[in-house]
Amino acid sequence: MIAGRFAPSPTGPLHMGSLVTALASYCSVKQAGGQWLVRIDDLDPPRQDPNAENAIIRSLAAHGLNSDRPIIFQSDHAVAYESALQKLTPHLFYCKCSRRELRAHDRYPGTCRAAKTPTPDRAVRVLMLDAEHDYTDGFLGQVAADFTTQLGDFIVKRRDGLIAYNLATAVDDGDTISEVLRGQDLLPVTAPQRYLMQLLGLNVPNYTHIPCLEFNDGTKLSKQSHAPPLDDACALTNLRAALGYLGFRAPDPINSISSLLSWSIQHFDLTQIPDKLPKYRPC
Ligand code: GLU
Repeated sequence: MIAGRFAPSPTGPLHMGSLVTALASYCSVKQAGGQWLVRIDDLDPPRQDPNAENAIIRSLAAHGLNSDRPIIFQSDHAVAYESALQKLTPHLFYCKCSRRELRAHDRYPGTCRAAKTPTPDRAVRVLMLDAEHDYTDGFLGQVAADFTTQLGDFIVKRRDGLIAYNLATAVDDGDTISEVLRGQDLLPVTAPQRYLMQLLGLNVPNYTHIPCLEFNDGTKLSKQSHAPPLDDACALTNLRAALGYLGFRAPDPINSISSLLSWSIQHFDLTQIPDKLPKYRPC
């Protein structure tokens, strides 16, 4: 069963960069006859915007990008994440290093590796020993992921008790999702997520990382870089623009969202996406 997903964090409304990724994921999974799911990654309340969740759901609907199953909320999965943590116990340790102490290192130096007894107010990390892991990416080809030099032991549960993004994503993608298509900004988290799925005995999806949409100065469109929210009233224009960034031009007479999406599904081709997308131009 082919299943892909779009998994925004509700930190702000969708922007053109989000639409480009959502549309590519939607088209590639639909073209393969699979289901496309929407998941709201709402596990970090301090970073969330209370209006974002509804705005994202509204925006996706306005652009015709409807989930084939009820929308998934990570905040409903606390039990599954805790049970995954239990399974990972032999690989976990409890870290008391402060951010300041770690600032001088490019990866975790292994300071607390011997602390195997669960201790409150400590971050829970996964031990990574000589775990080298290459994989073949649908867009990038062979990707070398060397944990020992790239990342070191990473956090699965934060000191404040919140489940870390990598663990939640591994639990939610493993076994359930077969195709993860997302932006290249998320390439560094692919190795830890794949590694966690393997430790948990879950099926690992195929990964495809497409280029991110950038402003003229090379900054990625994001909430932090003040990317303008999508105007849902211009959904057709937005979708045409998103297709344009991905290297496609739909014939002019197409003037409904559903026919534009059908055309996009039919013509989507990963090999046509440029290695660098054209710079963002407000519609
Ligand atoms: N929720 C993450 C974000 O919005 C992305 C999740 C993913 O695609 O793995 O950046």
